[in-house]
Amino acid sequence: MDTNLAVLLQLQFLEQRIKQLHTQLAAGPAKQAVMERELAPAREELRQRQATIEANQSERQQMEQQIQEFRQKISNFRSHSAEVKTNQEYRALLDEISYAEREIRQREDRILALMEQSEEAEKQALAASEALSAQEARMKEWLQAWEQEAAEVQGQQEQLHAQREQLRVQVDSSLLNRYDRVAKLRGNALAELENETCGACRVRLRPQFLQELSNHPERVYFCEYCGRILYHQPAVEPPFTGDIELAHG
Ligand SMILES: [Zn+2]
Repeated sequence: MDTNLAVLLQLQFLEQRIKQLHTQLAAGPAKQAVMERELAPAREELRQRQATIEANQSERQQMEQQIQEFRQKISNFRSHSAEVKTNQEYRALLDEISYAEREIRQREDRILALMEQSEEAEKQALAASEALSAQEARMKEWLQAWEQEAAEVQGQQEQLHAQREQLRVQVDSSLLNRYDRVAKLRGNALAELENETCGACRVRLRPQFLQELSNHPERVYFCEYCGRILYHQPAVEPPFTGDIELAHG
């Protein structure tokens, strides 16, 4: 096999590894986004529970405020009672007082009910908060593991990029240009010659082409249909045996 081809095969193998690592790296932020979205219902649950507690406190304060107002009224009525001249006026005053007392009792009952509800709401809010915290902790744990994995992958990428450059300088520049163009267009630039067909696009090669190939096996050939650089497998196997170790993801 042509030396250029042997190097290009290694290069292609290496670039596929680089792509795999790239995909692996891209998967992290995508997973993180999914996990973030999955946190939303628990956050909403907690928000609603806290809103219930706040509404409860606010209503209790309102009730207490109104009770104070009614007590003030009663106090005012009592202090005016000395000025009352007639029985009728006196009865009216007593009516006002008993009305205010009734209003106070109603609000005191409501406050008791609100306090009971508040206890329940606090329990639910605590449960919602714990559920959210647990979920956030799982996410944080995953994120830490992911950051470590990503750092390892990036290290491997740097290694592979360096090895890639080492390979590229060994290849004839016009062939390398061809390789780059086809790889950009088709994902991979090399195709194995299999039973007189291009192993990538599966098109059978013309007899004339095959004849030439057999007469001059030392030359580099391109598939006439897809433009890929053709090679016979036996020369390099496995194509690349560098110290690449891929993390699992
Ligand atoms: Zn082809």
